[in-house]
Amino acid sequence: MRVLVTGSAGFIGSAVVRRLKAAGAVVVGYDKLTYAGVAEAGSPVDALVKADIADPAAAEAALQTHQPDLVMHLAAESHVDRSIDGPAVFIQTNIVGSYVMLEAAARYWRGLDETRRRRFRFHHISTDEVYGSLGQTGQFTEQTPYDPRSPYSASKAASDHLVRAWSETYGLPVVMTNCSNNYGPYHFPEKLIPLTILNALEAKSLPVYGDGSNVRDWLFVEDHADALYQVVTRGRIGEKYNVGGDAERTNLQVVQAICDTLDEMQPDPAGSRRRLITFVSDRPGHDFRYAIDHSKITRELGWRPSVGFEEGLRLTIQWYLDNRAWWSAIRDGVYAGERLGARAE
Ligand code: NAD
Repeated sequence: MRVLVTGSAGFIGSAVVRRLKAAGAVVVGYDKLTYAGVAEAGSPVDALVKADIADPAAAEAALQTHQPDLVMHLAAESHVDRSIDGPAVFIQTNIVGSYVMLEAAARYWRGLDETRRRRFRFHHISTDEVYGSLGQTGQFTEQTPYDPRSPYSASKAASDHLVRAWSETYGLPVVMTNCSNNYGPYHFPEKLIPLTILNALEAKSLPVYGDGSNVRDWLFVEDHADALYQVVTRGRIGEKYNVGGDAERTNLQVVQAICDTLDEMQPDPAGSRRRLITFVSDRPGHDFRYAIDHSKITRELGWRPSVGFEEGLRLTIQWYLDNRAWWSAIRDGVYAGERLGARAE
């Protein structure tokens, strides 16, 4: 099995590469290596194409040269706060780039022989944020209407629609997944969990947006990678599957859990790290709550989350304690932890 993974040097892409290698696949990475493409050490690809997904000639050449049986499309701009400050690159990569990959994949797929055509899949990896924001109750199902609110989620919703269109109009055999918030090793330290871990380790203030009551459903990244593996190998053509962690937490609960776990694992002589928590102005348009109903993937493919939130958090914190060189280089170079996405025009 030969798999082309776009975004292979990113947080989730690298976990997908590890999962595919464990299953014996030959994996070709395709990644532009943007500021976020820093998980190469955790991404043991057999070959890496360093290119932009929005470059039609590069996409076509990668498919023709490496002849994949499956394409897993994860490359994207992924940070909501950055999409508020600068939406243009989100439109270019997430929408135009996905369109270019779909066109290249459809052309490649049409040229395959009958057996390989039947086996081929284009898997688009997306987010639960396309469904908008929930109140105190309810869960997103695969039937929930799209209602994206941020430039990031709108760009992912657009790419989901393009994937559906290429399936219905051109017959491209696609599968799609929409997943909740991930956390784990190699998470770029601009996102809530790794940023909080590192700031807490350095005794810096721990900013919480608004009053900290916004709720996310958290999934350990290796569980997500396994869900993606199950869907790309056994999912039904044309279907979408929601993936979630059964672990709803408010942002404040997440930050407090990090403080308490870190206090236990590496005590701070100055006292409980909860003292570092500070409430800052909210993210503009901050979705209140996301929650996922993953009963379809559980029923059809037998997948369910295997790592609970407290266990996953401990594994994640341990990974950051053990991999200081990886994150120090990022903190000293491309991103030191400054506030992003406060622009509200
Ligand atoms: P990430 O930001 O860590 O990694 C993205 C990768 O894509 C990087 O390696 C980057 O170099 C690459 N990339 C960006 N623009 C590119 C371009 N134009 N051409 C080629 N490569 C490019 O993101 P992630 O958290 O690993 O997310 C991966 C996918 O999963 C995204 O599509 C995201 O929308 C989706 N997703 C993420 C989460 C989450 O919690 N992180 C949840 C659900 C879905």
